[in-house]
Amino acid sequence: MPETLLEARGLRAGYAGVDIVKGIDLHVNEGEVVALLGANGAGKTTTMLTLAGELSPLGGEVLFQGHSKAGALHKRARNGLSFVTEERSIFSNLTTRQNLSVGRVDPDDAIAIFPELQALLGRRAGLLSGGEQQMLTLSRALSRAPKLLLADELSLGLAPKTVGRLLRAVRAAADRGVGALLIEQHVHRVLDIADRVYLLHHGRIQFEGTAAETRASLDDIQAAYLSSG
Ligand code: ATP
Repeated sequence: MPETLLEARGLRAGYAGVDIVKGIDLHVNEGEVVALLGANGAGKTTTMLTLAGELSPLGGEVLFQGHSKAGALHKRARNGLSFVTEERSIFSNLTTRQNLSVGRVDPDDAIAIFPELQALLGRRAGLLSGGEQQMLTLSRALSRAPKLLLADELSLGLAPKTVGRLLRAVRAAADRGVGALLIEQHVHRVLDIADRVYLLHHGRIQFEGTAAETRASLDDIQAAYLSSG
């Protein structure tokens, strides 16, 4: 039986006491990639921030490996939780190698995930392309051997080929046992690597299913729930 890494029970979340996320149940097991889908404003980022401990729940609870999760950010790494976002959390003035070193990551581990980083070790991270920067970010996150990866639009604005590269690296990590929860605008691409899907609509889980089930209903889901506005 795979272990449940992350679980939300009746989770309510939002800002200044206003519920955006209105009581959701979800879980992520070790070794699986779970996609969190939904239109703009559905509450995906709010959910993710709360799961990551950056926002306190307004109700319900978040359990990490069966324990109620303390919010403090600095505990994340120790807890085996890694959170990456579209914002590139790199130091532009440091080289790729220095960025890895600041993150206490062995360059060989990062290169094992993205071989293209080898040639970029001496380059200032600010000069890397957007895709290369996200490879650096993701390699750093995955090299720390997290149990759980939370990723909010890791591939925002990147070329399709790069999106595929990043998502395949997440899949490979999951195949080694990491659990991953992803918010991705590239629905088809994320379904290619995801095991399961939760669809969020106005702060509630409207649908949950396997990636195959989601793909089978995708036209209806997209028309009803994924168009913006
Ligand atoms: P998107 O795909 O557009 O990022 P999302 O599904 O991630 O959408 P959220 O970012 O969770 O949605 O936003 C849900 C709602 O919460 C939106 O109506 C948004 O305006 C509101 N919201 C987000 N951040 C804050 C904030 N800091 N204070 C108040 N309201 C906020």
